[in-house]
Amino acid sequence: MEKLRNGYLFPEISMRREAHQKKYPDAKVISLGIGDTTEPIPSIITSAMAEYSLALSTPEGYQGYGPEKGQKSLRKAIAEKIYPNMGITDTDVFISDGAQCDIARLQMLFGRDVTIAVQDPTFPGYVDTGVIMGQTGAPDESGRYAGIEYMRCAPENAFFPDLATVPRTDVIFFCSPNNPTGHAASRDQLRQLVDFARGNGSIVVFDSAYSSYVSGDQLPRSIYEIPGAREVAIEISSFSKFAGFTGVRLGWAVVPDELLYADGTSVARDFDRVVCTTFNGASSVAQVGGLACLETEEGREAVRRVVGKYKENTRVLVDTFTALGKEVYGGDDSPYVWVRFPGQRSWDVFGEILEKTHVITVPGSGFGPGGEGFIRVSAFNSKEKVVEACARLTSFLA
Ligand SMILES: *Cc1c(COP(=O)(O)O)cnc(C)c1O
Repeated sequence: MEKLRNGYLFPEISMRREAHQKKYPDAKVISLGIGDTTEPIPSIITSAMAEYSLALSTPEGYQGYGPEKGQKSLRKAIAEKIYPNMGITDTDVFISDGAQCDIARLQMLFGRDVTIAVQDPTFPGYVDTGVIMGQTGAPDESGRYAGIEYMRCAPENAFFPDLATVPRTDVIFFCSPNNPTGHAASRDQLRQLVDFARGNGSIVVFDSAYSSYVSGDQLPRSIYEIPGAREVAIEISSFSKFAGFTGVRLGWAVVPDELLYADGTSVARDFDRVVCTTFNGASSVAQVGGLACLETEEGREAVRRVVGKYKENTRVLVDTFTALGKEVYGGDDSPYVWVRFPGQRSWDVFGEILEKTHVITVPGSGFGPGGEGFIRVSAFNSKEKVVEACARLTSFLA
């Protein structure tokens, strides 16, 4: 725990926000910071949860513990609707209380003796759970932990590492569309990743929390679109950004039965043991909501509409920064826009923008040393707030 570097990024941002609000009590702060959803959940989903909840108060409707891996109907809906024609069946799917929690349970499965690789920059959860597990040495000045492979993902390499220069690790965490860069890996890039893992006998933990933001039909939404991936990859995903379930809590992990350790034993069997021992299953109410998102065309259309609203906001952000002559990345396939400020430090840019515009962003360096010089701007807010924030940013940066 002592090795964890200056706490978690978002509590630090909250502290700075509070200090700013104290300094400027009348300022209307707009947050384009934390990756939390803001749109209401469509009523087709909440009414299913409400109906189920009320029935819990009746003798006929009451239910206690469910299966640890989740309701069969939901696992089946995920296998069929999210992974059509990819060889994934309901028995490969483990329902969870969110992808963040699955990262921790996977780390418990892997233990402290594994080596891990992460994209740089990346979502902090993979590294921090590795540090807590004891997989790492102390961090250096730039925040790199000894023992972790940082795979630089920058505009200069199309946000994909040159795998020929990446040393073998037991586990590779890979998030696409990526948080924070917003970059969605191409089919060819994911093919390289799968081949690399197959050649090295590594496990890929593929985080597809933002797959519903991918535009068009060309880019893969799941690692299992790549042939051979079922033998090397676990996919974690979530209803959080897909259906606004950040507070409701629901996610899943896919651990295909083809995924085996070097000795031929099943990874899924061990993960099942971890899940049954440390987690008694996701909330039944949340699972009913998850099913309502997937099982009918109305449900699927309702969540698509919400994602579409955030995608409109992203367009406004991309257009604003582009008009200001900034180098802008992401946005097309994710709710995040990644903006470069050459020669400046991320926390300084964050501080200046907050001071001058009362807009909260996220310093790119919080996602790893490779994020230095960038900020992440999130589309998770109302259209009005995003437009207002863009007007302020334009008058400040122009
Ligand atoms: C938000 C997010 C998640 C979702 O976590 P939950 O625990 O399901 O809310 C997972 N991975 C990444 C990269 C995220 O940004």
